Amino acid sequence: MTNRRSFLKRASALTLGALFMDGMASKANAAEKNVMAGGPIGLQTYSLGRELSADVPAGLKKIKESGYSYLELAGYRNGNIGQISMADYKKMANDAGLEIISSHLNPTTRDYSRSNFEEIKDFWKKATEDHVKLGVKYMVQPGLPNCNKEEDAQFVGEVFNAAGEITKQAGIQFGYHNHNFEFNRLLPGGTEAISFANRNYRPPQGQPMPKTTEEIFIESTDPSKVIFELDVYWTVMGGQDPVEWINKYADRIQMLHIKDRLILGDSGMMNFEKIFQAFYSRPNRQYFFVEIEDTNSGIQFSRIKASADYLNSRGFVK
Ligand code: MG
Repeated sequence: MTNRRSFLKRASALTLGALFMDGMASKANAAEKNVMAGGPIGLQTYSLGRELSADVPAGLKKIKESGYSYLELAGYRNGNIGQISMADYKKMANDAGLEIISSHLNPTTRDYSRSNFEEIKDFWKKATEDHVKLGVKYMVQPGLPNCNKEEDAQFVGEVFNAAGEITKQAGIQFGYHNHNFEFNRLLPGGTEAISFANRNYRPPQGQPMPKTTEEIFIESTDPSKVIFELDVYWTVMGGQDPVEWINKYADRIQMLHIKDRLILGDSGMMNFEKIFQAFYSRPNRQYFFVEIEDTNSGIQFSRIKASADYLNSRGFVK
């Protein structure tokens, strides 16, 4: 404070213009609070584990106080979110001043085939009826079905299209969320995925580089039915640059998971500045959700608060 006062006094002595003075004073205020103006921030509630489920109404209020405005839920099962009905969860979120935008959920099987296609569609029909009560804009699948060859991923794309058609009829957008295994490469007619960790893989001479599972999902789905939520941390862990993906698939990647190893910014391995620049440069970007795994730590609330403070202090969020 002394420094700021003495600076302002000195600036005044130099007869700087009033406008410039006002600007300097507000910057000094922002620096004192370590907060810059920014837009709304979303949270994936999975981040909090039992710290939230132990007392959902109180936990939701704490999320709001920590700097978040909207949510993506996890934990859909048997028509509830955890033990709470969809309608009750919606009311609790509204009471806390939070909007539920999205929900993560998976069909009960990871093995997709023609023989269980109808069963998977039935899952999405029931889940859509339930999610209408929650009032979400998005239903997002975060779990990777088993894919060993290119044709497997193309078939998964067909199932995603069917899921997207079902949710669309209720006015909800279907999406898919990646981890690192979606950056495995799949051969046509192959028997085993080529791991994303195999950086030295080169196709036989004259053959093209096999596509990643994520590329096949994007290319084999209908843009009007399936969007993608890119988890930027898992993209990096899969050996890929999220900025390249956001730019390359600008029309398909509409949401992000903003994630680091733990608290945002702490590892130094994530270039959030470039990620947000790429995200905001696009016409159809929608929402992003902060996510922090290690959900049994017992200190997740402090981590989500530190992560929101980080985003605000760096001015990334517009
Ligand atoms: Mg994620």
